[in-house]
Amino acid sequence: MTDARDLRRALLALVAPAQVGEPLAEGLFLRHASAELGLRLVIETEGREVVVEVDAIGEGRPHAARSRHFTFGYRLGDRAAPTDGALGQRVCARVAEIAAENEDTVVAAIAASSTRDERVRHVRGETLLEPAGQGDERFYTLSPYVGCLIGCTFCYAPSRLDPLRRLAGLAPAPWGSWVDVRVDAADVLRRELASLPAWPIKLCPIVSDPYHAIEARERATRRCLEVLREHGGDRTVLVLTRSTTIVEDAALLATIPGARAGVSIPTVDDEVRRHFEPRAASIEERLRTLETLRAAGVRTFAIVQPMFPGSVEGLAEALAHRVTSARLDVLYGTYGATRELAEPRFAHVPDARWQEEQRAAIAAAIERRGVKVWPGELP
Ligand code: SF4
Repeated sequence: MTDARDLRRALLALVAPAQVGEPLAEGLFLRHASAELGLRLVIETEGREVVVEVDAIGEGRPHAARSRHFTFGYRLGDRAAPTDGALGQRVCARVAEIAAENEDTVVAAIAASSTRDERVRHVRGETLLEPAGQGDERFYTLSPYVGCLIGCTFCYAPSRLDPLRRLAGLAPAPWGSWVDVRVDAADVLRRELASLPAWPIKLCPIVSDPYHAIEARERATRRCLEVLREHGGDRTVLVLTRSTTIVEDAALLATIPGARAGVSIPTVDDEVRRHFEPRAASIEERLRTLETLRAAGVRTFAIVQPMFPGSVEGLAEALAHRVTSARLDVLYGTYGATRELAEPRFAHVPDARWQEEQRAAIAAAIERRGVKVWPGELP
């Protein structure tokens, strides 16, 4: 069966014979390969890490090199260590040369593999923890699910996942209508915890919400938390959701030494929330969720992203006694929310200056109330 996780194997076949942890070519070392949020190779060269993003021809992504079937782009680093453009081009060109040797076999194997085109698929994979962050702030993301049944229109995940589904030969399906369940997530996590650095772990929505509706049946998130309780040590574990189902794991979260649980609250105005996140929990439910978690002894936080209209002071007041810290960030793209944002009352929302001003105003209001604002990706 071909699935997004098997595409990692296809990605490795594309750059064969190198495996992760081996030289890819002279001066290039393959650090990581992932198919979770697009096809991604992390390559170390000249003391730097270059992230190479691989796409099928026709996806229209910016790229630095191409082969007959694929394009190769490189991701810019953070401001502290920007990726050198010429270096990125050179790496992409070399990877494209290697891929050109292998791609006919890889494309034929993907086309020949039988695909079960179901809305809920139970899948397996070789890896689970995805390295992220830069410099001193390295962490892993952990996603027991790929695909999210909450289906927020502004979510950027489908922009990366839809090309993977096309490559795997799956029929188009609206975001919010499909999910891949990692049935082996807990087993893979147990194995990885024994061998990887003890970086913080974030179960924060990137490709799915850890507590979207199917968690009530599958419990893939709960099984991962149980593994983290037994084998995760005292590392920071962050769990973020837009759902109330997390309260069913409040007692479990309270027993994980480094755990913090939080909810996304981009506005205190539930009418605005309903406009953009109609299938997520109401604001009142999210606030009650924070209270329940806190009462169970779990440290709580909030993520305010993106900025939506709503009372700044009202949001700060709502969070003041329910969380100890918060992260705030702006909107980075409209993605599927073009129609929602087209309404005149939301016309200002995509404006970068408004996003930044709202972020600064909320940050000041919650800090005045004693809530710590995260300086970066971690508390
Ligand atoms: S809950 Fe998170 S992962 Fe799910 S659709 Fe909304 S933004 Fe995307």
